[in-house]
Amino acid sequence: MTTSVETTQQHIPENLPTHLQHFIDGEFVDSISGKTFDVQEPVSNENYATVASAQPEDVDLAVAAAKRAFKEGPWSKMLPRERSRVLHKIADIVESRDDELSLLESYDSGLPITQAKGQARRAAENFRFFADLIVGQEDNAFKVPGRQINYVNRKPIGVAALITPWNVPFMQESWKLAPAIATGNTVVMKPASYTPLSAVLWPEIFREAGLPDGVFNLIFGSGGVAGDYLVKHPDVPIVSFTGDSSTGATISTAAAPQFKSLSLELGGKSPAVVFADADLEAALDATVFGVFSLNGERCTAGSRVLVQRDIYDDFVARFAERAKNIKVGLPSDPKTEVGSLVHPNHFDKVMSYIEIGKTEGKLLAGGGRAEGFPTGNYVAPTVFADVAPDAQIFQEEIFGPVVAITPFDTDEEALELANNTKYGLAAYVWTTNVKRAHNFAHAIEAGMVWLNSNNVRDLRTPFGGVKASGLGREGGYRSVDFYTTQQSVQITLNEAHSPKFGNVEDAAATSDS
Ligand code: NAD
Repeated sequence: MTTSVETTQQHIPENLPTHLQHFIDGEFVDSISGKTFDVQEPVSNENYATVASAQPEDVDLAVAAAKRAFKEGPWSKMLPRERSRVLHKIADIVESRDDELSLLESYDSGLPITQAKGQARRAAENFRFFADLIVGQEDNAFKVPGRQINYVNRKPIGVAALITPWNVPFMQESWKLAPAIATGNTVVMKPASYTPLSAVLWPEIFREAGLPDGVFNLIFGSGGVAGDYLVKHPDVPIVSFTGDSSTGATISTAAAPQFKSLSLELGGKSPAVVFADADLEAALDATVFGVFSLNGERCTAGSRVLVQRDIYDDFVARFAERAKNIKVGLPSDPKTEVGSLVHPNHFDKVMSYIEIGKTEGKLLAGGGRAEGFPTGNYVAPTVFADVAPDAQIFQEEIFGPVVAITPFDTDEEALELANNTKYGLAAYVWTTNVKRAHNFAHAIEAGMVWLNSNNVRDLRTPFGGVKASGLGREGGYRSVDFYTTQQSVQITLNEAHSPKFGNVEDAAATSDS
């Protein structure tokens, strides 16, 4: 097959910056050392920009700005209603820049443009959601009649470190930024080095919405230098991290000596379990979308599909047929369903798992570079069937358009297979038996379960994983809990009844009696 110019040339967004700077205390700045790194776009894998690379002294400046803004206000001391107005403005601006944002995101990450648009809308929604939540926030008060009143005084904590991955960068950033600043904290955010581009929109958006200088600080740099230094910084009491489980373990160790508040959203190898009594058409649509959307670079991807044996052959054949027909294409083409993976290193990782898969399962679709794309990080949607539970492609997160399908006979076997990995982020169950659906969901070791449903999450529900998929929950009021401290205050309503230790008269009176 020949490759046309149309399929190989990435659409270049207007006004594409060629140099990206940190944003510290309301100013765009380079690193003090002048150090930079290069960033590539994933279709040509050519450098399109240099990016300031933060060293410890730059992180110090960003943290100092955030600390000053927190201590001096006004942001941390403003009424929730006032902060809420700014957050709503941010949401309006994000929405109004939807097209520009999705073009940048798609250009930088290789995500199909239609899916990047969905992420931009979700980002705006995150700000709106927390703008409303902080105004409606209630806290507990407890009274002991005639004796005592106790209440909860909720307070922002201080400087939050927000460390984000490259798969859906802008949306992931909004997910942390919105609750962190809504609750009155100030932040230092470090995006992933593969995808820094869309983050440069935040300073403009925040400025236009009226967020005071120093509340939001942005640094670019490597995880090992800038990220590590930020996590260990003594003036940073909160760390919210999304990324790989092994990085999560490193961060957890780094944060432990200072007892920091830690939220870890980590990797996954989520099962999609299809019982014979399911609505098979709906299950097929959702399971194909569940693993191949966002190029398969999705933490909650249903990358292990477990299918009951009665329907196995038929379901697997239809699944493979769908995978073969998926439109792989330029990220900027609205018809594209799977774009280009983020980076050649990641492409190599996914390709090496495909080679492993060829020795572990039956290859039914894909199996390598997408046909017609001799360059760029294009992987053909790949389906392996009959994969044994001890296979590497069953156990390890591939984070690309690759699925492992495995048969089961009974509910017990399905549960055993579903729980048989170190991860526990999401699970999807397809059955029309309501009792089975709930019992199965309750027994699955996963932070989130979708029953007869695609991955659609109400923003009020908790998000997070168990086992190697994470620690803590964000989402809804759990995010507010994470980004605030809850001080309890007790007031006595009558006399303070305390034993009179050291009171000599009292002691004499007691010995006389
Ligand atoms: P990664 O762990 O390599 O990097 C994530 C971020 O951490 C980057 O900004 C990186 O620079 C930084 N980092 C790396 N080492 C660090 C260190 N020692 N100290 C501080 N910061 C450090 O992950 P990635 O490759 O960018 O993202 C893919 C992973 O993220 C996958 O495992 C995926 O499942 C996971 N993910 C999880 C969720 C979730 O909500 N559970 C969502 C999206 C992605």
